[in-house]
Amino acid sequence: MPIPAHGLPPEELFQRLEHYKEHDVSWRAGRILTGIYDPGDEIEAIVKQAYSSFLTENALYPNLFPSLLQLENEVVRMIADLLHGDADVVGNCTSGGTESIMLAVKAVRDSARVQRPHSTSPEIVLPQTAHPAFHKAAHYLGLKTVVTGFDPQSFRADPAAIERAITPNTIMIVASAPNYSHGVIEPIATIAEIARAHNLFFHVDACVGGIHLSMMRKAGYEVPPFDFSIPGVTSLSVDMHKYGYAAKNVSIILYHNRDLRRYAFFANADTTSYAVLNPTVLSSKSGGPVAGAWAALHSLGEEGYVRVVREVTAATRQMIAGISELDDVFVLGEPDMCMFALASDTLNIFELDDEMSQRGWTLQPQFSAGSSPANLHVSVHYATVGHVGEFLETLRDSIAAVKGRSQGPQEALALKAEVERLMQNPGPETFAQIVALADIAPGQLPTSFARINTVLDALPGSLVNVLLLEYLNSLYD
Ligand SMILES: *Cc1c(COP(=O)(O)O)cnc(C)c1O
Repeated sequence: MPIPAHGLPPEELFQRLEHYKEHDVSWRAGRILTGIYDPGDEIEAIVKQAYSSFLTENALYPNLFPSLLQLENEVVRMIADLLHGDADVVGNCTSGGTESIMLAVKAVRDSARVQRPHSTSPEIVLPQTAHPAFHKAAHYLGLKTVVTGFDPQSFRADPAAIERAITPNTIMIVASAPNYSHGVIEPIATIAEIARAHNLFFHVDACVGGIHLSMMRKAGYEVPPFDFSIPGVTSLSVDMHKYGYAAKNVSIILYHNRDLRRYAFFANADTTSYAVLNPTVLSSKSGGPVAGAWAALHSLGEEGYVRVVREVTAATRQMIAGISELDDVFVLGEPDMCMFALASDTLNIFELDDEMSQRGWTLQPQFSAGSSPANLHVSVHYATVGHVGEFLETLRDSIAAVKGRSQGPQEALALKAEVERLMQNPGPETFAQIVALADIAPGQLPTSFARINTVLDALPGSLVNVLLLEYLNSLYD
């Protein structure tokens, strides 16, 4: 595809861009329950205006744009204070939870090289409920992950399992407040005690909960401590682009002191090029996200967040209460904020997902893992408020539609059995057979996911990863 020889007039260009959106989900309808955190038109417009007014400014150069240094320092300070950080706690704005986590892991790795030279093959101990971003960080940074279990009823990390997993090579423990998958807060205080007793770094992943949970507490709800109020927490991540209701990409990484943070930084003055000096992974970066985060905090204010959190909490509780009246689905554990996982003993949950999406609702399939069954994740956000009745009605209709099918769960079981049969005697053609079984068409986005998810869920994790990578590699030109 050649670059157009002549530039398009702006009207035509924008018309064509709009046309490209034709098959996207319409997130404005409030029916997307994953990956979109919509504060409503008014706040969205303010955030976007602030964002675009700093879009071109380059945060690589705080000397040229002291505005960006000030905006970042103020955003970090507000979040550090919200999370009970003392004057020693410092931080930076990053491009998202993944980058915040990557930096926390890098800081610990490089600090441990100095402080714990006996840890020759460093390990991170983390529960299976931790976000994949920690595995990504370990993969990028050459560290080993040691995965521990979780309580089968509450879906919270098991502190005793974490303590048992500690070896002389352990440098870091991780836990979440809450974990994304089930929306439950891990026993942070207990795990912090373990970290302290073993003199280990302890990262609390509050990417999705940092702001929402703090505002819930201010609204009068009971929230267990999970932040720097607990001694032993050495770093913490909070995403502004989730329940901070800022525009992507912006998250905050907080370190318990400057000494740890120094190990996250990078400086290089050894080339013919300019000296690179980076607090985060990105070098050149737009000032837009930080300005948008600052605008979200200032336009909502504590009062605005508390109001939003009250409404979102009420909506979530109404959804969970409505679900508890249905026969075929149930919520896993007791969610602590506005996220939950929907499972079923009688239906193929992935078929329910397809039915919901055909009716305009986007939920997020999660595969079975350990004692957590396959489920659909739901993140309730401000735009969901006002659609709860419609959600429950659609869920009821979708359940009826799945039950009305000729084959029902038998089909899923047969598919699973077929996958297991293929896996018993894997040969060179097994991979292709599984791809065929799952109906995966290389290079194409599927329109229905139930079959694919059912097959993937029946496969061992390592093979799923290979399949997904092959598929991704076929998707992008
Ligand atoms: C979303 C999330 C992440 C990853 O954040 P990105 O912004 O998608 O990179 C990490 N941890 C938790 C708990 C999350 O919810």
